Amino acid sequence: MATVLVFIDNPGEQLHKGNLELLTLAAAAGEPMVALNGPLHDAVKATMAEYGVQRIYRPSSDALDDYLVAPKAAYLAEAARQAEPAAVLLDNTFEGKEIAGRLGIKTSSGVVTDVIALSGSGSDLTATKSVLAGAYTVECKSSAGIPIMTVKPNSVPPAPAAASAQPEETVIEIEAGAGPAARITGREDRPTSGRPALTDAQVIVSGGRGTNGDFGPIEALADVLGGAVGASRAATDAGWIEHSAQVGQTGQTVSPQLYVSAGISGAIQQKAGMQTSKVIVAVNKDHDSPVFEIADFGVVGDLFEVLPQATEEIRKRRS
Ligand code: FAD
Repeated sequence: MATVLVFIDNPGEQLHKGNLELLTLAAAAGEPMVALNGPLHDAVKATMAEYGVQRIYRPSSDALDDYLVAPKAAYLAEAARQAEPAAVLLDNTFEGKEIAGRLGIKTSSGVVTDVIALSGSGSDLTATKSVLAGAYTVECKSSAGIPIMTVKPNSVPPAPAAASAQPEETVIEIEAGAGPAARITGREDRPTSGRPALTDAQVIVSGGRGTNGDFGPIEALADVLGGAVGASRAATDAGWIEHSAQVGQTGQTVSPQLYVSAGISGAIQQKAGMQTSKVIVAVNKDHDSPVFEIADFGVVGDLFEVLPQATEEIRKRRS
């Protein structure tokens, strides 16, 4: 049976939902194997077993994180050489895409990014993705080497394998600083908000220029829904919220179950990052705003009146 290699980078003590989604897609397309970077905790190994992972590759060096992506790509290329997979899956983060690109060069393989669904198996693997700022949905196959795909979060509900596996471990010899690589000289933790990461969140409440810099109602609604806070580029450019919250063509692409857009006009570059969300709710003062073209539910109104009422009502119903 064809194998599918999944790259999992530093999951910590538990696999994240995005990791589980990749393992679910891998199991549907073949026999899942994992190239792990970082410590392998017992709970992580047990979950991999539940998801049918047959083999876990690990690097001989724990210094991959001391560098930017080059040694991770070298490690993954060696794991792919040994595993001979029918496909390699990575997450769709900036780093995942960069590793995928480097892996593509190292293995003379085609790379598909921003994948939202996979079908078929083995060498017949077909990816669905949206292109041209989300204007078209296309299906594509790699015509060279091993198909390398970076998959957006929330593309598939995680599902353990029908039968669990007993993963074997294989160490890949790798010298982290051997080739040309940029070394990381310092790190600073990002202040934690207690909210889920934007790309993993099931619910995102996003604010734009219409907030006029006051993200209070956006944050309150996000918190009552257990969601993340996003933003349009107008809001991040104005410095009202950090750049990492930007959703869109030059920000994060997200696909939550629920995306609430408030005070955002819905420019094509914003739509490109969120239009694959399952349910889109738009709140905008202007009934002609283009965001209503893609909204499942629209409220024409002032976000400073609409959002607090929604937050209050949800709070009441939950108490
Ligand atoms: P505006 O377009 O100014 O819209 C504000 C909206 O708020 C209006 O519709 C208004 O009716 C409404 N409003 C005002 N007050 C209220 C209120 N009190 N209550 C309710 N509604 C109210 N944009 C992104 O978002 N993400 C990207 O990744 C991105 N990448 C880009 C890349 C390129 C190359 C370029 C050229 C542009 C990019 N942009 C991106 C910018 C994009 O074109 C828009 O300029 C931007 O999305 C507009 O942000 P906005 O909707 O918040 O602001």
